[in-house]
Amino acid sequence: MSAGEPDRTGESAGVPERARRSRPARVEPAPPKRVMSIHAHPDDQEFTVGGTLAKWARAGSEIVTVCLTSGGAGSNDHTPPDVTRQSLVPIREEEQRRACRVLGVSEVLFLGYEDGMLEPSLALRRDLTRIIRRHQPEAVVCGDPTMRFYGNMYMNHPDHRVASDVALDAVFPSAETRLIFPELLAEGLRPHKVRWVFIHGSGQPDTFIDIADVLDLKIAALKEHKTQMGPWDPSDMITGWAREQGAKRKLQAAEAFRLMRLHED
Ligand SMILES: [Zn+2]
Repeated sequence: MSAGEPDRTGESAGVPERARRSRPARVEPAPPKRVMSIHAHPDDQEFTVGGTLAKWARAGSEIVTVCLTSGGAGSNDHTPPDVTRQSLVPIREEEQRRACRVLGVSEVLFLGYEDGMLEPSLALRRDLTRIIRRHQPEAVVCGDPTMRFYGNMYMNHPDHRVASDVALDAVFPSAETRLIFPELLAEGLRPHKVRWVFIHGSGQPDTFIDIADVLDLKIAALKEHKTQMGPWDPSDMITGWAREQGAKRKLQAAEAFRLMRLHED
């Protein structure tokens, strides 16, 4: 806003009709029937939304996990120095499959992009649009591309920002617009409207999923990423995060989201 402009306090003032805000749900949203969880690396999902996915899977949701990379750069202090990107990839893919089995995720897709080098390309957006149209999820789960800094000790990984940015762009407008990527129509993939986007790691969470009953599954799934955990036990950290995220709603353990409700009845 510039100096001479009137102060607009209404939610929709000065912005298109679509910027209206629907009231955040006070009650926890029902588990979506079909879910797509999109992340940059193996283990991102388990750190951030594993509890929510485990809860939804128990309730009967069909969940597809999409890993844009296979984590070929993900070594840590405990990784032997002779481990190469090529040798790490199949190990990390297997760790991700095992973690997904713990959570109850039905399918895992690896798109094979290079770890550490993700770019917000049209090729990546087309790939995600294709997968969204093919699987027709009601809900997409991804990160928040606008988050650059968390506290003063962690700068969000560029791959995380790109993965969430492109996931959102694929949801809207690409997946639902017939004439974007017409080559997908030729593949028989019709437009699909994703109804909800659950954005984790947001600075503006408005939706809280109670994960107290599945916290053990979240931790167990994360522990499947053995190359990343080394001898470290993530239980205390994950329990602490869940407590912090639940505090706003007096929940013992939660995962917090910004929920975009794009199409509702
Ligand atoms: Zn990551």
